[in-house]
Order: sequence, then structure tokens, then C-alpha cells
Amino acid sequence: MKIRLKLTLLFTLLFAILLAVFAAVTYFSYAENREDSFFERLEQRAIVQANLLMDVGVAPNVLQLIYKNVPNNEEVAIYDTAFNLMYHDDAVGDRVKETPEMMRQIIKHHNIRFNIGKNQVVGFLYKYKEKYFIITAAAVDVAGYRKLENLQITLLAGFLIAIALTLVAGRFFSKKALSPVSHMVDRVEDITATNLHMRVQEGNRKDEIAVLAITFNRMLNRLEQSFESQKQFVSNISHELRTPLAAIVAELELSAIRPRTTDEYQEVIIRVSSDARKLVRLSNDLLDFAKASYDPDQIKFKNLRLDELLLDARLQILKANTDYHININFEEEMEIGDDRFISLNGNEYLLKVAFGNLMENGCKFSGNHQCSVTIRLSENSVFVRIADTGVGITPEDLPHIFEPFYRGNNKQYASGNGIGLSLTDRIIRLHKGQISVQSKPGEGTTFLVEIPHIPAL
Ligand code: ADP
Repeated sequence: MKIRLKLTLLFTLLFAILLAVFAAVTYFSYAENREDSFFERLEQRAIVQANLLMDVGVAPNVLQLIYKNVPNNEEVAIYDTAFNLMYHDDAVGDRVKETPEMMRQIIKHHNIRFNIGKNQVVGFLYKYKEKYFIITAAAVDVAGYRKLENLQITLLAGFLIAIALTLVAGRFFSKKALSPVSHMVDRVEDITATNLHMRVQEGNRKDEIAVLAITFNRMLNRLEQSFESQKQFVSNISHELRTPLAAIVAELELSAIRPRTTDEYQEVIIRVSSDARKLVRLSNDLLDFAKASYDPDQIKFKNLRLDELLLDARLQILKANTDYHININFEEEMEIGDDRFISLNGNEYLLKVAFGNLMENGCKFSGNHQCSVTIRLSENSVFVRIADTGVGITPEDLPHIFEPFYRGNNKQYASGNGIGLSLTDRIIRLHKGQISVQSKPGEGTTFLVEIPHIPAL
């Protein structure tokens, strides 16, 4: 069931209950009033008749005649306390069959009231000249019942009309109240991958629906951003792949045009294999990038010794680049025996990639192909500083160097694909660590990495 319908029905039901209670109270209190006031009227009219009979001295048959044709007349009977009938309105019929028990009750209570069918009956003691008489009077309150019936019809009709109006009004107001949601739904239906820039209307920016719209728009902002960066990423990858591939194809086609000397073929092979190596490096980096983007729960973490990790990373870099020099040392003398300080919980492969990238960058962007790695240990974290005295990074490049595929102004200085630092940053963040950089063009660059011993997940 739609919320709009639900709200309308709920609202109408609530109103119907209230209205029904109100109508019932009105009806029953009117019915009770009618009964009471009719009993009183009966008594008064009976007293008038008793006065006419006893005080004024009207003869009983005359009195009968006077009241005979009065429409809806009440029937009055007067007895003495010995239960002898002194007067009866109707010589033929008798609505109240007075019994000795009834007489006793009247004498005992002075005044009794009860109903016989639709007839209301009142019986009471009447004192005239120090003598008591028992008077009974009975009649049907025809006018009162008619009014009660009218009231019933009026209340029922009013109830039905009010409910119908409430249904219409409820539908109208719930539609009005929920119209922003309908607009939002229509708008959201139009948002697809090709027009992620569209936003839903934020209304008055205050009520709950507006807050929902604002939250939704914020989510769209994030989605659009990540969608854009994915697009950029894919186009960068294809660009990076295309350049060496095009070079390989051109090189091979050119050498196939005419026969070449062995030396010339050798040169072509060297150039082609250099381009092919770039492709291998790129695909490896991309693979690592994908690994570092996994959910941390899916990555194997184990206890590692930082010094061993850095030595392994260093060895890998030196194997591939025999002219590089990397020094690893501790900032201050410390008790190496305490494994707790030098160990950290992490993924061995990814951390080697991260530190390897930083060492390789330090060497490749320095004329002397040297960098130094300094370890500092603290109670909660390990700190690794990778410093070189190379070309440095310009202030304009510094804010961007951790973006995927970004290569600084100094890129002509060394080959690369711009993935290394973004990959390193991702790996460090995966280990709940931080990386920062300081650099001065012409003087060198220092990266500082901090990783907690046990990353709080
Ligand atoms: P790549 O090294 O493949 O160009 P990275 O992501 O590793 O890509 O680095 C991004 C950019 O940051 C580099 O192109 C370079 O401009 C700059 N950079 C990184 N490390 C250093 C460094 N140690 N010295 C100077 N520039 C650096």
C-alpha cells in the first residue's frame, strides 16, 4: 500500500473514531434528557388532573371528556391508599395494570418511574387535605422519539458527509505533503550513468524530505566523482598502453620494409624489448593497484619485521638497477631484541611494493642514484624516512603527485608511468598509516611514512 493512501486512511480512521464517539455521546445524553423531562411532564400533567378533580371539583366523566380527544394523551389513574380506584382517564383501555405490589412500592418510595414497552410510567404519592392518594400516569413520548430519530438521522448523515470530506481532504493534503517525494522519484528515474550531473530539488532545505534530497545529492556528488575518476583512470591506462604498443608496432613495421643488417636488427630488438618492459611494468603496477584496492578483509595480514621488509625491498630494486645505492639505518640506537617495536601487522608483498617504489623514485630522480632510508620506532608506530638529494619536486606538482598517472615536471628526468606513488599511498592507507612529502627543487625530496604496529581496523 502506498504511503499516501496509508496516511489518508489512517487520518480518516482517526477522525471517524473521534466523530463516532462524539455522535454517540450526543445521542445518548439527548436520549436520557428526553426520558427524564418526559417523566417530569407526565407527573405535572397528572397533578393538574388531580387538582381539577379534587380542588376544582370537576366531575370524573367531564374530566374524561376533556382529555379524551387530546392527541397522544397520557393515561392517569388515581387511587386512595386502600387501592380503591377514584378516577381513570380511559374507561375502556388500561395501559398500566396497577397491582398491590406496585402500590406498596409507590407508598414506600413516594415516587417510582419505569417503562412498559414504549410507554413511560410514573407513580407517586399525592397529598390532598391531609389525605394521601396514589397517582399513576403513562404515555408514549411520540414527539420526543421523533426528535430522537431525527437526531439519529442528522448525526449519521453528518458523520458520513464528514468522513467523505475527510477522505477527500486527506488525499489532497497527503498528495501535497508527499509531492516532493514524487518529484524526487521522477527526477531520480532520469538519472543514469550518462547524466550523473543531474540533481534532485532540495526544496526548503529544512524539512525531512529536503534533508533526504540533500543527502541523496551528496551521494550523487560522490558517485559522480568516483565515476569521473574511474573514467579518467581507464583513459589513462589506455593511453599508457597505446604509447609503447604503437612504438613497438612502428618499429617492427619499419624494419620489415627491407632487409636489415644484424646490427640494425639488434637495435630494433633492444628498443622493442625496452617498450615491452614498460608494458610489463605497467601491467604489474596495475595488478598491484587492484590488489591494494581490495577490501582489507580480503588481504592477508601477518606480523612482519620492518628491517627485514626494507632490506628485501632494497634488494629487489638493486637487482633491477645495479647502479642504485640505498642505505638503510636506524635513527637512534635501540634495543633490537625487542621485537614488538620493530614489527608491524601488514601484507608483506604490498608493503615491499610501497617501500620499493619510494626507494626507486629516490634513486631515479637523483643524479647520484642514491637515497637513504631511516627507521624510527615508537611505542605505537614505525616511521620510515626515504630521502634523496635529487632534482626535487616543484610546489605546483606537490599536491598532485599521489594522483594516479600524474607525472611531475621532472618526468623527463626518469621514465615511469605515474602509478607508483598513488599505489604507495593506497597501500599505506590500507595499513591505516600516513605518508607525507617535503621537497625543494634542486635540493632533494623526503618522504615520511608512519604505520601503526597494529592497524586499528
Ligand atoms: P613515476 O615515478 O612513474 O613518474 P610516481 O607516481 O612514482 O610516478 O611519481 C609521481 C611523480 O612524483 C613523478 O613523476 C615525479 O614527478 C614525482 N616524484 C616522486 N618521487 C620523487 C622524488 N623522489 N624526487 C623527485 N620527484 C619525485
